[in-house]
Order: sequence, then structure tokens, then C-alpha cells
Amino acid sequence: MKTIYFDNNATTQVAPEVLDAMLPYFRDLYGNPSSMHTFGGQVGQKIRAAREQVAALLGALPEELVFTSCGTESDNSAIRSALTTRPEKKHIVISRVEHPAVRALCTHLSLQGYKITELPVDKNGNLDLENLEKSLTPDTAIVSLMWGNNETGVIFPVEAAAKMAHEKGILFHTDAVQATGKIPINMKNNVIDMLSISGHKLHASKGVGVLYVRRGTKFSPFLIGGHQEKERRGGTENSSGIIGLGKACELAAINMEKENTSVRRLRNKLEEELLKRIPQSRVNGDIENRLPNTTNISFEYVEGEAILLLMNELGICASSGSACTSGSLQPSHVLRAMGVPFTMAHGSIRFSLSVYNTEDEVDFVIEKMPPIIERLRGMSPFWNQAGQACTNQ
Ligand code: PLP
Repeated sequence: MKTIYFDNNATTQVAPEVLDAMLPYFRDLYGNPSSMHTFGGQVGQKIRAAREQVAALLGALPEELVFTSCGTESDNSAIRSALTTRPEKKHIVISRVEHPAVRALCTHLSLQGYKITELPVDKNGNLDLENLEKSLTPDTAIVSLMWGNNETGVIFPVEAAAKMAHEKGILFHTDAVQATGKIPINMKNNVIDMLSISGHKLHASKGVGVLYVRRGTKFSPFLIGGHQEKERRGGTENSSGIIGLGKACELAAINMEKENTSVRRLRNKLEEELLKRIPQSRVNGDIENRLPNTTNISFEYVEGEAILLLMNELGICASSGSACTSGSLQPSHVLRAMGVPFTMAHGSIRFSLSVYNTEDEVDFVIEKMPPIIERLRGMSPFWNQAGQACTNQ
């Protein structure tokens, strides 16, 4: 059975060119980039080249990049650095829809005495900058807001938010794990202090990430050890991962237009056809202000997990908007923050595409989804009582 992979916000396939760039650094060129000998030194040179490739995608300076192990490490490092370099400040501002890499860290920090403000979003998942303005106090150390949401794709006005924070002398970090490679980012055009990237979300491998730290920003390392990354992140570099990420960033710059034309067109076709063919379905998140590859659709009166199981039987991969915690299905914090009604939030599916998806795959999913939803609704007492009545009106 062929796999149809529409779960690219969870992780992406390693691009063939990226794998080719990585392989020699497992097989032959396994030296430590910090070694004095040429064997290791040549790996150091390739890491420098990769740093330049990543910098080019972001409009950054190579020395502004710190290679990490993942997006979570980058997010944690940014926030912890702000608290360490500004020890007198005890307040952090985030949004209600941040990834757990930010939100769970902040919950943890609140137990240590930090005050956390979680900004609300509206029903379309958008952030109101007026709320940000009101939340900033002389005690605020850092504002951390994501660039693109992993569940809905909704884009936050992070460049304007960074300006607002700066006017009050507050540091600004953005989690750009989902936005990188999908929408243009140019650090020369904004005042964002720190930005997080994760390799496996943009066709590089798992186990590599980046934290951008603007030149002149005081930084305190999260991992303390060796002298790697100019003392900003101890630990022997993931050479092959970093070299692969450099290649992935080069490809991302080339594919950016495709993301915004062909991937967007396929996403729109999938969304429009599913909404047309399946009654009582709706999109969660702002239709316009979104990453081009993501759609989050609710099918009322069905369980997301049940939908995923039937999709899985056909080889279709996606994600649901609920998480199984302590035996009960909780709708995602993102959909709850947007006020999506319970019966809708439970039946939400996130489809996230990439440049490797095809029109045939989209057509297959468009054909297979309506019978899946119909079958599940046929078993749902709620649908038979309420939903069916609505569609008959
Ligand atoms: N931030 C966002 C928005 C994400 O979507 C993810 C992963 O899903 C992360 C952070 C964490 O990235 P990683 O898996 O590399 O730790």
C-alpha cells in the first residue's frame, strides 16, 4: 500500500539531496570538527559552509547562528537565556497557542516563581497586538510568540510585536519552526532578537536545530560544556545533521515559490473539495493569514482519532486536533483557545502538505474522506440526533 503523507507539520522526509550531503559524514569523514588534525578540520570547514547556507535563508550573519539539537532546545535556550541575562525580571509573555516547547517550559517556570501571561487569540486564531501592548510591564524579561502555528498554520505579526517589545526594552523571541522555508524570513528587516528553527520540519534530519541570536544580544548558554558554537552551546556538533540542514536551507530558498504556488494550490483544492463534499465541516484558522501548506478541518460529530484510524487503513497520514491524555480525549489547546465548539474540536484533522505531494494524492484523499466521515457519523448517536437534522434543514 502506498503511503500518502499529509503530516508534514509533524515531520518531513529528508530531501534526497540532503541525504546525499550527509552520508559522507557518517561513512568516511567522521572526524571531530574541533580536532587539530586535517581529518577533523575538514568537517569544521563544511560546518562553516552550512552556517552560511542557513544564514542566507534567514538574511542573518553566520555568527548569529547557534546549532542545537531541535526546535525544543532552541525555544528553551532562548527563554532561559533571557531570564539568566535579566535576572531581576520575572515576567514572560507568550500566547495561548504556543507549542509545548514554549508553553510547558513556561508552566514549569511558573512553579519557580515566574509570572506568565498567555495572550488570547480570536476565533480565527489571530493575535491582537493591543493585548500584547497591555501585557508588557517593567518586569517583563521576554516575549515569545510563534511565527506560524503548527496546528492551524495561522501567522502571527511577530515583526510588529518585536518592535513593540523593543520600544519597552524587552527581548523578543519567535518560534519559527513551522514558518521557516514556507514564508520569507529576513532578519535584516526586523528587530527580532532570537528565532528558533528545527531541521526535521524542513526536509533535513531529526536531531538538529538552530537558535538565531542577533549580534549584540546578551546570551547565556543552556548547555554548558565545551567551547563549541563560540561557547554558546556545549557538545560535539551533529556534523552530518548540520551539513544536511545547510543543504535543506539552500533547497528551501529555491522551493519557497513552489510552497506558495503549487503547494498552496493543492492545499486549497483539498480544503475546498472536502468542505464541498462533507456537510457540517469547517476550517479552523484564518483562511488568508496562514502558512501555505496547512489546513485544519473539523468534521462535526466524529472523533478525530477514529477518522485517523480509518485514514490509516488507506495509507493516509495526518494528525488530529485532540490528544489522548489520562484516558480522555482532550481537544487541542489551540482549538480551545480559538473557542472552537467541543463537537467540532473533537473531530478536527490537520492536513499538512509539502513540495513532495502530488495532485493524484490530493485527489485520492478527496475521494476517500467523504465515505470515512459518513461511516463514522452513521455510528454516532449525536450525529443521528443533531447533525443529520441540521443537514436536512
Ligand atoms: N515549535 C513548533 C511550532 C513545532 O511545531 C515543533 C514541533 O512540532 C517544535 C517547536 C519542536 O520542535 P522539535 O521537534 O524539533 O523539538
